[in-house]
Order: sequence, then C-alpha cells, then structure tokens
Amino acid sequence: MGDACGMMGDGSKAVKIHHLVKARENTPESIQRRESWDASKPATVYITPERMPDGTHCKAATVILRTRGCAWWWKSGCTFCGYFNDVRDDVSAEDMFEQWEDAKRQTNDFEGCSMVKVYTSGTFFEDQENPVEWQEHVLRETHEMGLHLVIEAQAHLCKPEKLAWLSSLQPDCTVAIGLEAYDDAVLRFHVNKGFSTKTWRKSVEDLRANGLRVKTYLIFKPPFMSEGDALEHTSKWLVDVAPMSDEVSINPMNIQNRTIVDRLFRNREYRPPWLWSLIEMIERTHEKTSNDDARIIVHPTAAGKIRGSHNCGKCDKEVVAAIERYSVSRNLAEFKGLGCDCKATWRAEIDSDLNLPTPLGTGRDRRGNRVDRMRAP
Ligand code: SF4
Ligand SMILES: [Zn+2]
Repeated sequence: MGDACGMMGDGSKAVKIHHLVKARENTPESIQRRESWDASKPATVYITPERMPDGTHCKAATVILRTRGCAWWWKSGCTFCGYFNDVRDDVSAEDMFEQWEDAKRQTNDFEGCSMVKVYTSGTFFEDQENPVEWQEHVLRETHEMGLHLVIEAQAHLCKPEKLAWLSSLQPDCTVAIGLEAYDDAVLRFHVNKGFSTKTWRKSVEDLRANGLRVKTYLIFKPPFMSEGDALEHTSKWLVDVAPMSDEVSINPMNIQNRTIVDRLFRNREYRPPWLWSLIEMIERTHEKTSNDDARIIVHPTAAGKIRGSHNCGKCDKEVVAAIERYSVSRNLAEFKGLGCDCKATWRAEIDSDLNLPTPLGTGRDRRGNRVDRMRAP
C-alpha cells in the first residue's frame, strides 16, 4: 500500500514538468540574482556600425530594455533563451518610460545614428509584456527622429491588426522573428519555440502586406542534435527561408546562463558548433542564396570562447575574422588559405555523425565522464 501511494503521489499538487526542467532558474538564489537590478535603467545601450535596408553603411544604436519579458518564457520558454536573466514581472510603465529616456540621454538622442534596435527580451508589441502607451511612444518618437526601427516578435503575435497599427505609427521598421529552425519537429522538440513554420509563413505575409521588413533568425545547432545534422539542416533552412526574408541572421548557439542548453553543456552533453561548420554552411549555400535579395549575416556571439562557437583555440581568431569579413563582403575568397590541424578532427566528427546511428552526435565534448556528470547540478 505504501508503495502504491508512492506511485500515485501523496495528494499534493502535481509539479509541472516545466518547473522541474527549469528548476535551476526558479531557485530563490536565481530569482534574487535576476531581480537585483535597477528597473529605471536599460540593461545595455551601445552603438555599432550597421547597414540600412538599402545597403548603405550607418551607425545603429542597440537598446536592450529590462522588461517583464517574454510571455512564452513565463509559460514555458525556448531551450536556449537566457533573456529571463534581464527580466522580472514587476517592471512598471513608468520604469519603461524612464529606461527609454535614459537610453536617449546615454546616446545624446541617438546622435549620428540612422537606425535603432529596441529589444525587449520578448515581443515589442505584446501588450502584456510592454505597456501600449510605451510602445506607441517609442514608435512615434523613432519615426519623428527619422530612425529606422528594428524590433523583435514571436510569429504568432504578429496579428494583422497590430501590424497595421504599428506601420501606421512607424512605417520604417524591421520586425525580427526568432524562427530558429525551418522544421516543425525541431521547433517542437529541440527548441520548444511555441509556434510552427506555418504560423511563421503567415506572419511573413502579414508583415509584408503592411510594408514591414522581415528579419529571420536561425539558430545553428539547437540542443539534442549532432554537429553533422546541424550542418545539413541549417544549410537547408537557410536556402528555404532566404527568399521569404529581407535579412537572415544565423546565430550559432552560444550558451546562456541557467538555460536548458547550459545544463546539457555543463553535463558535457552539448558542444557549441565548430567554426568550421559555419564556413562549410556558407560555402554550401553561397550560390543557392546569391540570387535572393536577402542579406545574410552569420554572427557568432562569444566566438572562440568555450561557450560560443569555437575550434581548437589556436585558429579561432583567424577563422572568426574571416566569417565576419564574409558577412560584409559576401566573397568566398575570405576563406582561402584558412587551415589548421583541428579541421581533420572536425571533418571526422561530421562524417561519423552522418554515418553512425548516434542521433546526438559523436563529438568528444559530449562524452562526459561520470564524475563530471555527478558534479553538474
Ligand atoms: S520566444 Fe524569444 S524571448 Fe521568448 S523564450 Fe523564446 S527566444 Fe526567448
Ligand atoms: Zn584549429
């Protein structure tokens, strides 16, 4: 009987799998850490060189705000997303206005910039995430200042009425959607994205109908996927989504703190992608995407570091520089003459991944030893 009771539970409320999987993010220590910031200041403001929609060079300000965060994350959340480290549910409308004013103060009203990226760790125009009056204020102001605005959104939240409202206030706008993978099984089981490719295609249609630019993020090597599969899949996704996008940004996985990917990584069950894989993907897709108007950017965040896309450590700097040059020049000659001993190891890994029945891959880093596994919480 005692055993049977154990099997059936003890009558207390069932724990959702979501809370078990994300247990680490929900510990008092994690919550305290992520709630320790000042809600009247944006998380980050910086200026970088960029390109306008017509291809001309410009300066762009990036403003990352501290918000209530992505509604999807609170419900469930993507497996790699660490944005929750910058959010909390008590951010007020007043805080949001103050953060925006602070960003303007820091940049002297975006002096010298033609573009501003306003990132809210979720969907800019989701009313539960960000107050409507604040959204309207930012849209109006950026339009009055003659700035091209870049915002982010989830596909299913790109509702036609909302897009019509948005473009009436700020027609000069790019909406970036984290599609991550152009494959429904991967979206569901590897990324936990919360929307389907069909929904994404519909959102692209609606964005274009409203004269808005479409930027698509793809992730290179979501969790539970081998290096070889990542290379094959992402190359295909890129060719498929480029004609439907004005810009595609391929983001090689970087491990963000306290995420599911972080847990796998610490357990030595996941290795961020090799830089060689990125070059191989570029070489495979270059011709096939050269007739599309879409601008394609490969931007490895934390490249060369152990938590970002990396090679052996010796050749990383040179290889990253070539990838970055390619994003600007779109010239395959940037990769001429690159080489290193580690390339053979990478090539062997890809070959084994694609020829052996090991869906999670054969890469050395994911063969954790027992002691490491015990240590990883
Ligand atoms: S939809 Fe975007 S912000 Fe929300 S959990 Fe996924 S990646 Fe993070
Ligand atoms: Zn190397």
